[in-house]
Amino acid sequence: MTKGSGADQDQSEATSRPTREEAEAAVRVLLRWAGDDPNREGLLETPSRVVRSYEEFFSGYAQDPREILARTFSEVDGYDEMIVLKDIRFESYCEHHMVPIIGRAHVAYLPEHRVVGISKLARLVDAFAKRLQIQEKMTAQIADTLNEILQPKGVGVILEAAHQCMSTRGVHKPGVEMVTSRMLGTFRTDPSTRREFLSIVSNSTAYNVPNT
Ligand SMILES: [Zn+2]
Repeated sequence: MTKGSGADQDQSEATSRPTREEAEAAVRVLLRWAGDDPNREGLLETPSRVVRSYEEFFSGYAQDPREILARTFSEVDGYDEMIVLKDIRFESYCEHHMVPIIGRAHVAYLPEHRVVGISKLARLVDAFAKRLQIQEKMTAQIADTLNEILQPKGVGVILEAAHQCMSTRGVHKPGVEMVTSRMLGTFRTDPSTRREFLSIVSNSTAYNVPNT
């Protein structure tokens, strides 16, 4: 069976990823649903732009978060204090309304033998953010993956975010931010570890999420 021949798609592929042309046609339907004319000049290129944007918005599906963390360093000269990467800006998309969730993640762990490059923590956040999400699930996914791969003494993750589905529709409440957290290991059992993490995060000057 040949794959990728495009034109002669059979029924068995109905549940697989649609073609770019099908995705663009769907955008044209939504433009008509909004009340506009997809054939007017200003909208002619819009479907292809939207589909290209989607490739960026949802690039997390093509990434394996476990692989991002796979390369660890074990020579840390006995460093055994908390490692915190704070104010990691992220852009995600609400899975109920497909509108942006924009916020910051604070990710911390207490290493046991192994550490990762700090850019990997930011990439881990993006791998889960660039999908359709709910904030609670994303918080748990980041913490659980870090915990599973690094097997540290503890993990703490806090997400603060503004949901455009609350600011631009529905209850129309701009300026509201949602805060979620997941504490594992010593971050859960040891109040002083948790306090240290919270104090590092709250001393941040960029603590507040922009009003989007
Ligand atoms: Zn929503």
